[in-house]
Amino acid sequence: MILTTIHDYIGKTPLFEFTHDAYEIPKDSKIYAKLEYLNPGGSVKDRLGFYLIEQGLKTGKINQDTTIIEPTAGNTGIGLALSALNYHLKTIFVVPEKFSIEKQQLMKALGAEIIHTPTSLGMVGAIKKSQELAAKLENVYLPKQFENPDNPATYYHTLGPELIDELAGKIDSFVAGIGSGGTFSGTASYLKEQISDIRLIGVEPEGSILNGGKAASHEIEGIGVEFIPPFIESLPITRFETISDEEGFYYTRALAKNQGLLVGSSSGAAFAASLKEVQQLPAGSTIVTIFPDASDRYLSKNIYL
Ligand code: PMP
Repeated sequence: MILTTIHDYIGKTPLFEFTHDAYEIPKDSKIYAKLEYLNPGGSVKDRLGFYLIEQGLKTGKINQDTTIIEPTAGNTGIGLALSALNYHLKTIFVVPEKFSIEKQQLMKALGAEIIHTPTSLGMVGAIKKSQELAAKLENVYLPKQFENPDNPATYYHTLGPELIDELAGKIDSFVAGIGSGGTFSGTASYLKEQISDIRLIGVEPEGSILNGGKAASHEIEGIGVEFIPPFIESLPITRFETISDEEGFYYTRALAKNQGLLVGSSSGAAFAASLKEVQQLPAGSTIVTIFPDASDRYLSKNIYL
């Protein structure tokens, strides 16, 4: 394959099937993971960045002088910056301090400006700060991933159809982490239309509120919520699976060591939840999950040490 723009390589990522005997997967049951870390910016959010920029231009919300401002844990910023550079658009990302330095460097490498907010104010603090900034500048576009229907629409139009195609419509359970909830809800909505009895399992870290827990800090990065994402409210979700940091990182390391899958901790958590789900299903079932990003953007956090 010869590319003339790296953006042509976004999406249509490979599916990985777990055949390794290190895990308790009942005979004839299958767990597949969509390897989103193989996108050119290294995460599932390249799809979102591309869709947001293209839609923004199409609908006139973005023109050549527009500045894009977005609160992000990093991957959405990388995805947005990757597609914004096609049009020489300026990008400013508001990032809570705790998020990894590697993601911040990648955003910078793609031309973005980074503004920090205190970790103690969480994502809500970053959202507020981005709104304050936008009010001071002219010709800005805030994609607002936490409320913009283009976020789930991205995955409804891309990930969902890819999974149905690749697995010939045979999926019993869809398992995915929830941050903004865009990946989960967009993909789940599409799958549910195609497979009416599909089970939908949302994954969160301990310290997230979806199972009624209290908001608290956690080390698993990219998933977990301090408020219920609006995108998931109307979905017929089977259950939420809450994964501890310890278990999430255990599987993050196992995936590297056993399969050579160099993925981030939200992938480890998604895999841990998939292993729990497969035990609840009859033999011969098929589970599909999403591995959102790569581990090399967390090495400063010593995830393998
Ligand atoms: N995993 C990682 C590593 C992420 O960065 C994100 C996005 N914050 C997610 C999972 C969750 O994706 P979404 O925002 O679509 O729920």
